[in-house]
Amino acid sequence: MRAMPRVVVLGGGYSGVATAKKLQKELHFNEAYITLLNCHDYHYFTTHPHMNGIGTDSIEHTRVAISELIDEFKIDLITSNVREIRLFDKKVVLQDGILSYD
Ligand SMILES: Cc1cc2nc3c(=O)[nH]c(=O)nc-3n(C[C@H](O)[C@H](O)[C@H](O)COP(=O)(O)OP(=O)(O)OC[C@H]3O[C@@H](n4cnc5c(N)ncnc54)[C@H](O)[C@@H]3O)c2cc1C
Repeated sequence: MRAMPRVVVLGGGYSGVATAKKLQKELHFNEAYITLLNCHDYHYFTTHPHMNGIGTDSIEHTRVAISELIDEFKIDLITSNVREIRLFDKKVVLQDGILSYD
């Protein structure tokens, strides 16, 4: 039996979250292992931080837990920092481990 392909999405910003959500919608269960990795467990709205800085809005309106944006039954969410992407052997070196991808 062929192993499921491993897809790793780096970054939980606009493009990473959009890509992960698109994959979770397009792919059937058991079609691929999808991992979304971000250095924080939240996504933040780049249009908001200046309001936190000047005190006109609360930080809770600037960020949202990534777990609220994706289906964690379909996507494995990892919070870590990327140190290196080794394209030649398809590995992402994290501060606390190594991820393989296809
Ligand atoms: C103040 C401001 C206002 C903006 N307003 C608009 C606007 O009105 N309209 C518009 O279209 N665009 C706007 N932009 C631009 C928009 O925010 C960017 O185009 C968009 O965020 C880019 O998306 P991205 O996913 O490529 O990167 P990002 O959204 O920056 O996401 C990158 C993610 O990767 C994570 N990350 C980075 N390095 C690592 C690492 N080593 N390990 C793990 N995780 C890591 C970051 O924490 C982040 O979550 C604005 C930007 C700023 C700064």
